[in-house]
Amino acid sequence: MLKRRLFTPGPTEVPPETLAAGARPILHHRKKEFGEIYTETVNNLKKVFVSEGEVFVFASSGTGAMEAAVTNFTSPGDKVLVIESGKFGERWKQLCGVFETDVNLLECRWGSSADPAEVEKILKENPGIKAVFSTLVETSTGALHPIEELASVSSSAGALLIVDAVSGLGCDRILTDEWGVDVVVSGSQKALMTPPGLGFICVNSRAAEVYRENNRKNYYWDLRKASKSLEKFQTPYTPSVNLIAGLLASLESINSEGMENVWARHRNLAAGTRAGIEAMGLEIFPENPACGLTAVKIPTPEKIGSGFVKHCQDRYGIVFAGGQADLKGKIFRIAHMGYYDELDVIKALAAVEAGLRDLGERDVLGRGVKAALEVFTT
Ligand code: PMP
Repeated sequence: MLKRRLFTPGPTEVPPETLAAGARPILHHRKKEFGEIYTETVNNLKKVFVSEGEVFVFASSGTGAMEAAVTNFTSPGDKVLVIESGKFGERWKQLCGVFETDVNLLECRWGSSADPAEVEKILKENPGIKAVFSTLVETSTGALHPIEELASVSSSAGALLIVDAVSGLGCDRILTDEWGVDVVVSGSQKALMTPPGLGFICVNSRAAEVYRENNRKNYYWDLRKASKSLEKFQTPYTPSVNLIAGLLASLESINSEGMENVWARHRNLAAGTRAGIEAMGLEIFPENPACGLTAVKIPTPEKIGSGFVKHCQDRYGIVFAGGQADLKGKIFRIAHMGYYDELDVIKALAAVEAGLRDLGERDVLGRGVKAALEVFTT
């Protein structure tokens, strides 16, 4: 028998209480009982976004919520700035292109993070940019972007900052209101410890004025309609009632731990993982790594490449993610976002050690595990 353990940056492992809450008998979405669950869910989500803004929940994956952000906060021909440093910055670029905005692109090397001074310069040289699109955590490279600083330069230039936090929310620190982030998008299947299928958008009051006045046509994704329903703690169309019931269980667990403690737990898991990886003589891929996942360079890509991830899964049941696009076969990614603790990291590092040895790569047995335990026990 092999126990399968997910260490992928979405979907992630889900607590049994969440699975049980989602397995309850179906509730009707217009009746009081579900209304109470939905009210609690929205209020708990606000604590996780650290915002008093409106929080919308869609029956969609994270990309649906990204699309809603583009279609509600821009109109065709609007000038926008997209920060692209990996697969998900690329997704903002594609969405902004499909919806016919005028895209200025800041291309950053994959693995690097945006430089706020460069963003500030572009905004100064191109007056009239209406919105800046960034990711909090670029899952394809494991890099964290400096959102607080990006919010400051965007608001000085009169542009909205719209952040894809599908991967970062609930593991990497984001203070939506305090930092002045206008729109934050996320999804259920990562640090929020819930199965895939829910998309979220958190909107502050400055951004709310923009979607209310926006003249692009929308139907399913119309935030004006969603906002009217939200006043009654409802959604315009049938919500994913059981996923939301499950989500509420996870949010209650997150909020009873407290956001500062949740972020500290992820910092600790990331520190242990990085120490373990470096003790094996391996290199972390991004310059400024996030706390929710660790992207690692595969030591001899020409020899083992993507075979490493497959081997760890087939032999040990440990499911890592490989690299995407140009990074395929060159990196692997260990997620520790959401329902993970210190001993989960130890299991993941043990699989890396064993996998490398099995593939004849290098003898690292015990080195990573020891280094991580040093972090966790001091
Ligand atoms: N943005 C980021 C940063 C992501 O990691 C992902 C999912 N990997 C998405 C967007 C897209 O989310 P989904 O697959 O839920 O549509």
